[in-house]
Amino acid sequence: MNVYDGQRIAGMLTSRGMKQTDKVSEADIIILNTCAVRAKATDKVFSALGRIRNEKKPDALFGIVGCVARESGADAFRRIPELNFVLGPQSYHKLPEILENPDIKLLNIDLGGLEKFDELPQLEKSPAVAYIPIQEGCNHCCTYCIVPYTRGRELSRPFNDIIKDTIHAANTGAIEICFLGQNVNGYKYTDQEGKTYRLSDLIREAAKLNAIQRIRFTSSYPTEMTNDLIDMFRTETKLLPFLNLPIQSGSQNVLTRMNRPYSLDLYIDIVNKLKSARPDIQISSDFIVGFPGETDSDFEQTMEIAKRVKYINSYSFKYSPRPHTAAALMPDQIPESIKSARLAKLDAYLNDLQREFNTSCIGKIMPCLYEGVDKTGRHLVYRTPYMQQCITDTVGEAIPHLAQIEITDANKASLRGKIIK
Ligand code: SAH
Repeated sequence: MNVYDGQRIAGMLTSRGMKQTDKVSEADIIILNTCAVRAKATDKVFSALGRIRNEKKPDALFGIVGCVARESGADAFRRIPELNFVLGPQSYHKLPEILENPDIKLLNIDLGGLEKFDELPQLEKSPAVAYIPIQEGCNHCCTYCIVPYTRGRELSRPFNDIIKDTIHAANTGAIEICFLGQNVNGYKYTDQEGKTYRLSDLIREAAKLNAIQRIRFTSSYPTEMTNDLIDMFRTETKLLPFLNLPIQSGSQNVLTRMNRPYSLDLYIDIVNKLKSARPDIQISSDFIVGFPGETDSDFEQTMEIAKRVKYINSYSFKYSPRPHTAAALMPDQIPESIKSARLAKLDAYLNDLQREFNTSCIGKIMPCLYEGVDKTGRHLVYRTPYMQQCITDTVGEAIPHLAQIEITDANKASLRGKIIK
């Protein structure tokens, strides 16, 4: 989602004749696009702001957009008085106002709903992977999560608007579509005639476009994985055989306190249905360890569920207390040392699973999407259908966007391969 926001912000400024630079000291405007989901991310923003204010040109405009802007509001100006603007994730389309009136301090952290989508200009040229937001906000209210506060309540965009964006992306260079939402598989839009559209309808429509070869979506909530969507994995070959389906914890007690009221049996049932719809599907998850009140036995149940599902590539985090969330006020907060020990144990196991899956890919031929050249300039980087990074040797001028690659080697982080065609 932040990548999408970043691309649109860059698009707004380049359409006004500005150019991108990597050098802070050269920039006329500096924008930090920020994430507030864990405290560490927020802390990094303020230390970066402290650094930038010393490096930037004295008259360069600088400010923050995104969730830290929404979380900090006017307080950001108190902490860093040189800031020119603070714009939340639903008001960054107001950014051009600061260009017209650089002497004001621009603060807008309103939750404007879907308004920004009407105002943001389309990108002239789509990247090969087109991120298409289909929804803003989230209604689930997991007790650890700041997102409902920073991005507001859940709103699904009109079906026709999304299809328009998808067609535009397909016509301007997109090969892969990634539908985005905080609760993306809960997408639900009813038009004026009373017809209701779901994510499965969007996938079916996008798959009709010839230019689009791959479709995926993120991030999903377990119980929104309805049968119409599971069926898409059976019928729609352009849908990638990979799904991030965050379980967060393997303990029923912890899930209840997280306000994620699904049963583990139901979760396993959904995974099994997905596997019967698409036998080659692989699942990844997000995990939080050290949630308030998590016992050793709760944590062991998380290890168990990881073993059962055999996730191929997951994100795991120490619980981070966030403002405006219920869990931050819960008793029995877990000491940092225990959180760290649990995370190290879980990570070690998840890494083993990932290495195991990567190794099992050796010898297979997979269609992979070109991403760019690596740092050395000697290798090409591709993405497999399972979102693994695959590195090949350069092949002269004609770099195929979608290449059949034979996997020749693997480690935990990436694969090596040879382009077949
Ligand atoms: N709707 C998105 C939420 C994005 S946050 C999603 O379901 O992925 C991405 C991940 O960050 C979450 O899945 C969760 O595992 C983690 N996370 C969210 N709040 C957290 C917190 N307070 N502490 C630690 N991890 C958190």
